[in-house]
Amino acid sequence: MPDEPKNTAGEFTYDAIVIGSGISGGWAAKELCEQGLKTLVLERGRDVQHIKDYPTATMDPWEFKHRGEMTKAFLKENPLISRAAGYGEDDAHFFVKDKDHPYIQEKPFDWIRGYQVGGKSLTWGRACQRWSKYEFENPARFGYGIEWPIGYDDVAPWYSHVEKFIGVCGNKDGIEAMPDGEFLPPFDMNAVQGHISKKIKDNYPDRHLVHARWAHITEPKQIHIDQGRVKCMARNLCMRGCPFGGYFSSVSSTLPWAKKTGNLTIRPFSVVHSVIYDEKLGKATGVKVIDTNTKEEFVYKARIIFMNASALNTNLILLNSKSNRFPNGLGNDNGLLGKYIAFQNYRASVTADMDGFLDRYYFGRNPTELILANYRNLHKQETDYKGGFTTFMGAYRNRGPKETAEGEIGGAYKDSLTEPGGWSAYMYLQGETIPKASNYVRLSPDKKDQWGIPLLITSVEYDDNDERMIKDFLTQTADMFEKAGCTNIQKHENKQAPGLDIHEMGGVRMGKDPKTSLLNQWNQLHLCKNVFVTDGACMTTTGNQSPSILYMALTARAATYAVGEFKKGNI
Ligand SMILES: Cc1cc2nc3c(=O)[nH]c(=O)nc-3n(C[C@H](O)[C@H](O)[C@H](O)COP(=O)(O)OP(=O)(O)OC[C@H]3O[C@@H](n4cnc5c(N)ncnc54)[C@H](O)[C@@H]3O)c2cc1C
Repeated sequence: MPDEPKNTAGEFTYDAIVIGSGISGGWAAKELCEQGLKTLVLERGRDVQHIKDYPTATMDPWEFKHRGEMTKAFLKENPLISRAAGYGEDDAHFFVKDKDHPYIQEKPFDWIRGYQVGGKSLTWGRACQRWSKYEFENPARFGYGIEWPIGYDDVAPWYSHVEKFIGVCGNKDGIEAMPDGEFLPPFDMNAVQGHISKKIKDNYPDRHLVHARWAHITEPKQIHIDQGRVKCMARNLCMRGCPFGGYFSSVSSTLPWAKKTGNLTIRPFSVVHSVIYDEKLGKATGVKVIDTNTKEEFVYKARIIFMNASALNTNLILLNSKSNRFPNGLGNDNGLLGKYIAFQNYRASVTADMDGFLDRYYFGRNPTELILANYRNLHKQETDYKGGFTTFMGAYRNRGPKETAEGEIGGAYKDSLTEPGGWSAYMYLQGETIPKASNYVRLSPDKKDQWGIPLLITSVEYDDNDERMIKDFLTQTADMFEKAGCTNIQKHENKQAPGLDIHEMGGVRMGKDPKTSLLNQWNQLHLCKNVFVTDGACMTTTGNQSPSILYMALTARAATYAVGEFKKGNI
């Protein structure tokens, strides 16, 4: 990159470096660039440009060689990544293949990754509920986590800031377990969703089945039009990349916005090896980078470093950032770096059928679901497990009768598929898990990847608390379906490994006390103040709401603080 800025010593120098260009890195880039800092985004994967690099976005099912499915040979070679939600022939190019990026599973852990500009923001599910004050306060209050150094009131304005920019649809429902925000109108509830919501309310006054909040533009505001994004067309093909910019990704939104300031440089194919710490200065001075194609090594310098490589990769980079001062990884005097990894409990669901409503249908392919806000352990510890859970819900019409007299074969069966059939519904669990020192990641002492970076070892598992939560969820959810008049109610437990929830968090947690945490209330390493960690690695506890919008809010908040400190000359 010949036009890169250099200092008088001839070193590549920026005001700020952001490691990773996904959901949180895009937000760091936007805020830092908008507030005047020359910013370098380092991304290990290839470049992905909005629209141009969505090769399957407008393809019809019959245009795919395997009609959207993966071949048996591919599935055999890629058992891990092919388990990811929504993975298929149409979006496989946005996920890493198993063999390309190995890691060591001491216990089964499905690490789902998207290594490209945009990271997993291209393929995420887009659920965007706010955390409530209970999620910040209850872990310490009920004794299953340390105290967060911030609370809901600290992040509320930053949630608003993010929601307005990315576009989030939903209703203002006034539910204490799921605070309201700056919403665009939601998609319609269909007839069966509306019916079940009402029946739940009639039977359980404290349970609210409402529109979840989704990063979809249902009614564009000027700020979205200025980003070049328009209304969601309800195609529900989001994971291929949306040519309308109907849902939020960093490729369609934050990165091009940052680029417009003239302050952004993105360097794809650049895997960060480690952060460089200068003992005399007592701070980080830059990062060591390896070009993934040429294997050439570079050093990039900056006064501020934002770690946004996604939760486990940020742990990996910090553990690999060894110096005389920090022989066990940057900022790791207390030995807790890599520990207290947690995730969300996605092990259970309930399905059911609903008779009637055969004169009712719905418009388009609604890309959103409803949510039953957490109703457990809000005000007091009331169950035999800790933490709460959120329940996602959908209802849909099947295609035709399930089979014809001849079975699932022949012309009559095909004809029947052109007719709408009966209604089915589902609810699935998204539960809080308890962060524990025994759930951790560490570096392999001897095994390295193709760039000489140590492989990550994952040692993370579900526990009895999760099992008790599953039991309660299954009982309660089946009861709700029954009270709503559903039939054929089936409980499912999938026994999946942690990681497949794709909500892994922790390892570099925030806290009040440097003895028990790595980051302060501004996401700065306690022991190296110009390094900010604002992806999922910073999470003290997991809450029960989808986490990514919190990463965005924390990133915008920390970046604004960092710019203030930079301008005052404090970092
Ligand atoms: C199918 C699916 C559904 C999901 N649904 C939801 C949902 O509904 N709601 C929700 O809140 N979350 C959801 N998620 C999770 C969400 O995608 C992640 O929480 C979010 O993307 C994390 O943001 P991030 O910036 O930390 O990481 P990412 O978006 O993964 O970005 C990290 C980037 O860093 C790069 N990188 C990694 N290591 C290095 C390195 N050493 N050097 C340079 N670059 C590096 C990666 O290539 C990547 O581009 C879903 C994810 C998937 C895949």
